[in-house]
Amino acid sequence: MKIGVVGASGRMGRMIIQEVLVHSDECEIVGATAREGSYAIGRDVGKVAEIDPIGVTVTDDAAELFKAADAVIDFTSPEATVEHAKLAAEHATALVCGTTGLTRKQEESLGEAAKAAPVVYAANMSVGVNMLLSLVEQTAARLGVEFDIEIFEAHHRNKVDAPSGTALALGRAAAAGREVGLDSAAVYAREGHTGAREDGKIGFSVFRGGDVVGEHTVTFAGQGERVELVHKASDRRIFATGAVRAATWTKGKSPGVYTMKDVLDL
Ligand code: NAD
Repeated sequence: MKIGVVGASGRMGRMIIQEVLVHSDECEIVGATAREGSYAIGRDVGKVAEIDPIGVTVTDDAAELFKAADAVIDFTSPEATVEHAKLAAEHATALVCGTTGLTRKQEESLGEAAKAAPVVYAANMSVGVNMLLSLVEQTAARLGVEFDIEIFEAHHRNKVDAPSGTALALGRAAAAGREVGLDSAAVYAREGHTGAREDGKIGFSVFRGGDVVGEHTVTFAGQGERVELVHKASDRRIFATGAVRAATWTKGKSPGVYTMKDVLDL
């Protein structure tokens, strides 16, 4: 399969390039882009990913990349993702989107692309987190509102969106288990005289610091007992592995929006 990588010089982009090359029996890199003006433009994709050269050059021409690739992997920024989704729609190219922090409106562009091609969209591409999502939904359904749900997430100091896309996905899973919407249940911040906790709310708290790859804890706090479901990522490669697996999975799939649940058959 011909894979394109946008955001090639990013932390995830570089790892995704390495991961595609690990799976050279199934896929190859046909091109990669970086943001206009990036140091990576004109350099060999392999060099940018800190491995041996592969004879493919990084460009800023995303349209050309979508034309050449069977699937494009996007871990960039919400604004860039919207542009990439338009190109996926135009060229009917499969899109694997791991970018987080998209607004509802920005997410609609992925829905548009999904009319023309398969789109895999997941705030977290790891197998473990996707397992956690189903455990959270089941636990929320079984334990009922006498157990307060709190979601804690910790990430490295460079992360720019909060709460993490994964924390929000966990919130949506908990809300789905309770058959409510997250919008009405979520409490994103607490400060000052907040009053007692309301029944049925789903609280979020956020830590940012150091080089934490990503930790998520969903706590179900009852009277006299507490259930905690925890996932700790120690290597960003789990996201790259999931993204490349998602890209190869799109082969022969109908247009539509898919999640990692579909890819991993959970
Ligand atoms: P990063 O800042 O290191 O990389 C982002 C890259 O995108 C940068 O190199 C930037 O120059 C590039 N970029 C921005 N606009 C572009 C454009 N128009 N064309 C080409 N490249 C462009 O960030 P990162 O840590 O690699 O994370 C990127 C995104 O992936 C974030 O939203 C992050 O939250 C998300 N993420 C998702 C998962 C997951 O499993 N879904 C895992 C890790 C990170």
